[in-house]
Amino acid sequence: MTDGRASHILIVEDEPKLAAVLEAYLHLDGFSTTTLDDGHSVMPFIRSTPPALMLLDLMLPGRNGMDICRELRQFSALPVIILTARIDEIDRLLGLEIGADDYVCKPFSPREVVARVKAILRRATPAAVAMDGSTQAPRGLEVDEQFHHALLDGKELKLTPLELRLLALLMKSPGRIFSRDYLLSHLYADHRVVTDRTIDSHIKNLRRKLQGARPDSEPIASVYGVGYRLEI
Ligand code: CA
Repeated sequence: MTDGRASHILIVEDEPKLAAVLEAYLHLDGFSTTTLDDGHSVMPFIRSTPPALMLLDLMLPGRNGMDICRELRQFSALPVIILTARIDEIDRLLGLEIGADDYVCKPFSPREVVARVKAILRRATPAAVAMDGSTQAPRGLEVDEQFHHALLDGKELKLTPLELRLLALLMKSPGRIFSRDYLLSHLYADHRVVTDRTIDSHIKNLRRKLQGARPDSEPIASVYGVGYRLEI
């Protein structure tokens, strides 16, 4: 990366050995890092020196990672990867309330963590909103919710209104995993009447239409037991 600031990673981890391994692997890939080992210092650091991405442990002295992420999401879309041993919390972590972008389960492979960091930065960086307010994503995808219009590689996608909203939602954070609960609560005014399976079938149709415009691609990934993410 050419922008030095764009490659600065904040590591929040109170186990020195884990932090050191992450630092070493990130440095090998050209990232610079700052490591914090307690929860209280995280928000002041981010406000004064916003990093490109944060790796966040959940169990920390001072303040836990969930609280930190929840507060962060009130003012920032900074990408956050949670480091956790608590599989049972993953749906909540990625959901509306906490809003993490991804997670890595402990014990983790540092290579895998670096790969996730690179994937999220690659997807997050080029996303932009066009002057007319339409969402303009990289790599050929264009969605205009106002005029009910979606193109992939210049081909009209012919989406239903709900599929269009679903795609627009996924495009807000390409690479982030969206839980079914999050998608349900954002797609329907009254989400009590629909089920997880409804989302699955809309995703299936949307994926098929995207693949129609771009054959042999996997535009929407299913993350088993958690949700979906846009891979375009
Ligand atoms: Ca810890």
